[in-house]
Amino acid sequence: MEWYINRGSKVCFLCERTFAEEEIYLSVLYDENNTFTRKDFCLGCWDKKGEGNIFSFWKTKVPKKPETVQRYAKIDVFYDLFNKLENETELSRINFRYVLSLYLMRKKVLKLRTTHKSNGNEYLVLHNVKEGKDTEVIKPHLSKEEVLAVTDEIGRLVNCAPQFSVGIT
Ligand SMILES: [Zn+2]
Repeated sequence: MEWYINRGSKVCFLCERTFAEEEIYLSVLYDENNTFTRKDFCLGCWDKKGEGNIFSFWKTKVPKKPETVQRYAKIDVFYDLFNKLENETELSRINFRYVLSLYLMRKKVLKLRTTHKSNGNEYLVLHNVKEGKDTEVIKPHLSKEEVLAVTDEIGRLVNCAPQFSVGIT
């Protein structure tokens, strides 16, 4: 599983200007009524975006048009989301965090130490290589198709296209 930065033209949410080649813009993930929505802002509009429940934000550089090599999505963005979802209890967010953990394991940011069961849930105990600490992830009962659907959803929010070259985990 990989996520690649989506190409195609993006516009600033406020001034509706299409971002230029190699322009740096900011994407914000808002958490509103338990729903994530993403909005993109040009640097000029960043200070005018107003209030909102910001869950996470990150910078993206628009690729050069004739670029042939696809850019990998930034692991830092996924890692940040994974961390911020740690204490979420809502099912869709548990699913979200689990799928992010699969990706971060593939990227060797997280290493599986062990698994255990308690209160009817299965947990993955993951070692966070970057921070030298362990973190637990609830393993939800997801079919392959459901994992793919969650992966698509994450890709949509982070503006990346998932690709599954070597299986899903
Ligand atoms: Zn703008």
